[in-house]
Amino acid sequence: KDPIETPVIIIGSGYGGAVAALRLCEAGKKVLMLEMGLNWEKSGIPYSNLLKPGKSAAWLKKKTIAPFMNIFSLTPFTGTLDRLDFENINIWVGRGVGGGSIVNGGMAVTPKESYFKEVFPQLDTEKFYQSYFPLARKELKVNTIDEQFLKDCPYYKFTRVGEEEAHKAGFKTIRVPNVYDFKYMEKEFKNEVPRSALNTEVIYGNNYGKNSLDKTYLKKALDTGNLEILDLHYVDSIQLNPDKSYTLNVQNINTSGNVEVEKVFHCQKLILSAGTMGTLKLLMRSNELNQLPIEKSVGKNWGNNGNFMTGRNWVRPLSGGTGVQQSTIPVGGVDNWDDKDHPFFTEIAPLPMGMDVATALYLMINRVDKKGKVSYNGKTQQLVLDWDVSNTQKMRENADYFIKKMNKANGGTRSHFLFKNGFGPNVCYHPLGGCVLGEATNAYGKLNGHENLFILDGSLIPGTIGVNPFVTIVAIAEYCMENLIQQDEFT
Ligand code: FAD
Repeated sequence: KDPIETPVIIIGSGYGGAVAALRLCEAGKKVLMLEMGLNWEKSGIPYSNLLKPGKSAAWLKKKTIAPFMNIFSLTPFTGTLDRLDFENINIWVGRGVGGGSIVNGGMAVTPKESYFKEVFPQLDTEKFYQSYFPLARKELKVNTIDEQFLKDCPYYKFTRVGEEEAHKAGFKTIRVPNVYDFKYMEKEFKNEVPRSALNTEVIYGNNYGKNSLDKTYLKKALDTGNLEILDLHYVDSIQLNPDKSYTLNVQNINTSGNVEVEKVFHCQKLILSAGTMGTLKLLMRSNELNQLPIEKSVGKNWGNNGNFMTGRNWVRPLSGGTGVQQSTIPVGGVDNWDDKDHPFFTEIAPLPMGMDVATALYLMINRVDKKGKVSYNGKTQQLVLDWDVSNTQKMRENADYFIKKMNKANGGTRSHFLFKNGFGPNVCYHPLGGCVLGEATNAYGKLNGHENLFILDGSLIPGTIGVNPFVTIVAIAEYCMENLIQQDEFT
């Protein structure tokens, strides 16, 4: 069968892919984007909320896959949230046009300048903080909640309680910006528009309010007329041809996950933006099946961005706890990064369960002192992660320190209700690294040993960035694309 010819293919429609698409389309290139997940906007199927999980809740699973409280059974469907299970860690990822932006909490955090410098010593920090980070925030439509609304809104009791308790325990808190439109949320609260964040919508998609990539970068790229997105197209493997072009073996699936048509695509330029785990799988699988050249540093310097979940029970049990009604969009965090003994940042996370459970949930971000490694098992055809308790030891110590200090100042217990022993070291929302910028790639994301293959996603960041990562993924992708286009890599 003749391959489908196209000059540039981008695999994956998350942050890295969306930036690449926009900048190439603006430069007048025709771009084809292949995404394994569904185009939800086009499908017309609404996203479901946390309390009534439906079609969008999970990628081809029979039961919901939230980090806890999975009592709901499902009919398998190409839903928005997927979980990749490894021996000592579970990694959640987004599926669908917009990638992780469809399921994430929208927290849009710029890393601390000193930490960014430590992680990327080779980059011009000043240029990033004056140019690429502001550009990323502008394109992503980052905004901040109005303090008066936060003070008055019953849906943010969990944040107010969390901040009061943190201050009492001697911690510093910060306001966290987001891509959710807070002006929309104010209207939701007044019942002037349909509710989304105030109707427990988030990890299975937001029907309103959230400026996910389909409303920002991807929309702008589509508006140029140069971008075509094919959803439900899963790239199984890549082949390097003698003329340095690429052939892609692709499965066009239906919403039950069955393959409807096998397709072959051929392109001159290929951009891998399948997310950290997706990109690593494609590279390693293609190496195994088709001898795609990859060098030794691919798979190294992987990390969970220090993700560690923990929680507390008996939080103000006599005065309404953390609140029956909770917005799904976090706006507060504890910033303990400058404490040399216990450096961490933690999100004061919502737990919108439709009842008062007097429980506080925290998603911590720590340094990753010991990195992991990713490899591929040809027999099981799965990625293997070299990652165990030794990698999360310091994160556990930080969590223990934080919970003890909070309980001592405020009362409460470690949350056995949410996690075994009160700790969730296995919960990872931020897989990063494995194809590190300047190690596995050149200075701008071109994979070593290749002329026409570029990596643009979370795998470029060496396992840690100290805050929620998508603003950094976008800034790095903007930097790479600017330089790659300037160097005529796509002509
Ligand atoms: P992704 O956004 O993961 O996109 C990759 C895309 O490639 C996906 O759409 C995938 O379906 C597609 N793909 C993969 N393999 C293939 C293949 N073989 N063929 C075709 N398509 C493929 N970060 C923040 O900064 N703030 C937050 O508040 C936040 N909250 C989060 C909450 C949750 C529940 C989760 C899961 C993540 C959260 N994150 C958050 C993390 C953030 O979403 C990710 O870091 C980000 O999406 C990664 O971007 P990316 O460009 O690397 O790839």
